Amino acid sequence: MSAELTQLLTALPGIIVLVDEHGSVTYLSAQAVPLGLLRGDRLRSSRLRGFIEDVRVARAASSREWDCKRGEERDEFIVHASPFADGSILLTFDDVSEAKRLDAVRRDFVANVSHELKTPVSALSLLAEAVAEAADDSDAVKHFTKRMKTEAQRLAVLVGDLLDLSLFAHEGLRDIGELEVDVVVALATDAVAQVAQAKNIRLCVTGEHGLTIIGDREQLVMALRNLLTNAVGYSPAGGTVTVHVQRADEKIEISVTDEGDGIPEEAQSRLFERFFRVDAARSRETGGTGLGLAIVKHVCVNHGGDCIVSSVVGEGATFTLRLPARLDTSRLIDEPEDDDMPVVSPRADGETRS
Ligand code: ADP
Repeated sequence: MSAELTQLLTALPGIIVLVDEHGSVTYLSAQAVPLGLLRGDRLRSSRLRGFIEDVRVARAASSREWDCKRGEERDEFIVHASPFADGSILLTFDDVSEAKRLDAVRRDFVANVSHELKTPVSALSLLAEAVAEAADDSDAVKHFTKRMKTEAQRLAVLVGDLLDLSLFAHEGLRDIGELEVDVVVALATDAVAQVAQAKNIRLCVTGEHGLTIIGDREQLVMALRNLLTNAVGYSPAGGTVTVHVQRADEKIEISVTDEGDGIPEEAQSRLFERFFRVDAARSRETGGTGLGLAIVKHVCVNHGGDCIVSSVVGEGATFTLRLPARLDTSRLIDEPEDDDMPVVSPRADGETRS
């Protein structure tokens, strides 16, 4: 291989392999080394050797999917092969593993959303039929329309949570300011006070007062409200839900403790996944969408913090938001230029979950 060609190939980024007319590898870029492509001076993979043969016969550039296992991971590539006049073939590899993984996550998410939407939509359709059939029976009509309202509310909450999730997962932080933690706590507890009262659950706030935090008020209130909604929803009537605030080093910790059934240890690591529920029927009963904790996770990540859970089955659960008191300013989003797309602002009614 000429010095010029070697220089040219070395200057190119990415995974590159040059194979001569006899099938010997004459150049392998540094990025190709970890793939372990070679046995002696030949390509180890019979699929790649077959592909090269096809390109050699056809004398035309071509691309093919190819994958290889590295430890536990399977890497997926699109391999492009270009034949040269001297019979050698240049292979370049595009790593599409991450794109494929994201695609699978997206497909999974769309399937989950469709499934979640199907239940209230089918219920609404059946209830509409029931109303039409019971048109002369005003009691039955009242009963069915009340249920229609419940299903419509369920749909509205689900759509609201989906919008919040998509906004918080992709937008980061926008509306930043210095916030009084007491105010965040008061707004979140007020939002669940009515539901708590209906179940005769006492809401207690303990710990330090007068702390401040730099963050996005709407996001922080929503995260705490989601934790409180769960604490109230998964608690028995007559219990106590406690919000405790404390400063620990450079972090503000806000924990929510309930006296409910708790969460089995094996489920705890999955709680923050979208649509994960320990008990789907129970979640539906409490009006849950399965998205509340996924929203909490994104709010925490946006603030450079996290949320931890500790729970013993039968003894309740504690979820703790751990947030830096002073925000890393690199997390702030630049103001959009005039010709940027407008940003969708969070819904004014602030409604997320019942
Ligand atoms: P949901 O809308 O179903 O409540 P979340 O994302 O808020 O969805 O919570 C996911 C699951 O975690 C819930 O379905 C429930 O099984 C469990 N969970 C959350 N918080 C609590 C809690 N305080 N006590 C018991 N289980 C809880």
